[in-house]
Amino acid sequence: MSEKSSEFKGFYKLSIDERVKKVSEFSDLTDEDAEVLRRAGALGLDSAARMIENVIGTFELPLGVAVNFRINGKDYLVPMAIEEPSVVAASSKIAGVARLKGGIEASTTDPIMIAQIQLTDMADPEAAGDKILSAKAELVAYANEQDPMLVKFGGGARDLEVRIIDTRRGPNVVTHLLVDCRDAMGANAVNTMAEALAPRIEDLTGGRVYLRILSNLADRRLARAKAVFDKEALGGEGVVDGILEAYEFADADPYRAATHNKGIMNGIIAVVRATGNDTRAVEAGAHSFAAQTGRYRSLTRFEKTDDGHLMGEIELPMAVGLIGGATAVHPTAKLAVKILGVKTASELGGIIAAVGLVQNVAALRALASEGIQRGHMALHARNVAATAGAPPELVDEIVKRMIDEKKVRMDRAKELIEELSK
Ligand code: NAD
Repeated sequence: MSEKSSEFKGFYKLSIDERVKKVSEFSDLTDEDAEVLRRAGALGLDSAARMIENVIGTFELPLGVAVNFRINGKDYLVPMAIEEPSVVAASSKIAGVARLKGGIEASTTDPIMIAQIQLTDMADPEAAGDKILSAKAELVAYANEQDPMLVKFGGGARDLEVRIIDTRRGPNVVTHLLVDCRDAMGANAVNTMAEALAPRIEDLTGGRVYLRILSNLADRRLARAKAVFDKEALGGEGVVDGILEAYEFADADPYRAATHNKGIMNGIIAVVRATGNDTRAVEAGAHSFAAQTGRYRSLTRFEKTDDGHLMGEIELPMAVGLIGGATAVHPTAKLAVKILGVKTASELGGIIAAVGLVQNVAALRALASEGIQRGHMALHARNVAATAGAPPELVDEIVKRMIDEKKVRMDRAKELIEELSK
């Protein structure tokens, strides 16, 4: 038998149908498989093919809406695109708890992104840095010439800073261009500016520029949210104490903090994705920010109020936009923004931070009281029953029995299907 080759010359030039045919041959897909690829949902195959390369289909996720959110005195329905059970329910529940004490307060800094320009081969890095700083006004003005549209909308390059970084290949003089990106996530905007400044920085210093790209550690573009969670609604003062223990554990131990922050990102990424924003940019920003003190820590902070309620807050980089990237072309993303009713990227950023905070409280509350599995079990058990081949009329009974028996397993689901089918 001859080996199949994955080497396709000009695969990108083929039509979508031709690509599907090639993939079908390579991977022995059936006609039904190819039909699944053709069912492209709201995005549609042609739009998908304008977004990325070598498109053969689209990939759907459930879109849910979290309810009960009240942020800065305004009510929101929050669209979430996620495959994980319980996230939407948990957000909705704890947003409801936050409402009891007036809702969530959110705020953001100006939407400032950082572009980095890496200058190498410098005998005297301090002197090179001084030269760059003394040309600051001219460099900032030249950066702004690259994006008159951004300037027109009230954004643009604001400032420039220089850092000297020691690397194994010698010192780097790294220029940070600080750019107000308004309602854009801003990666393309700031990268264009950084590329334009590079030759000028080389001329000024006689050095050699390599990288010119934004930093995803967007620590000048922060979103914050804060709320008080009623102790009775959380399940009593014991639960508040449990949440504080869980938080302190996370803040002290990176093994725990990774999972603690992952839970926060369950909520955050679901909204970032639903609105067509760059999930990797927000993930990278969050985790690098969590490690900024030199130790990887919790993105949230908690304490007890004088009367025993839980006070929580979150702060993290939030590079999201309402224009540019997929936000402006994906029909479901545009609809998600319409459902939210947000008018600025900053308003969106504040909502996303609020979702991260309540998601964290939900997870810590479950962990500190009944354990995480109970909430997960009902949906998980339905998945197991369906995967085991349970006929629709038996699913409810099989789910109930597996949960009662604490045996949510494929083998047990199969036994129950057989038993109940008789
Ligand atoms: P973009 O370039 O499509 O749009 C931004 C531009 O829109 C601005 O430069 C401005 O000229 C114009 N504009 C019009 N109205 C505006 C307003 N109200 N506010 C701000 N700008 C306005 O998009 P972008 O946001 O620069 O880039 C986002 C994309 O870049 C994302 O898809 C992201 O995935 C991708 N990207 C990310 C990285 C990274 O994170 N490391 C790197 C490269 C690219």
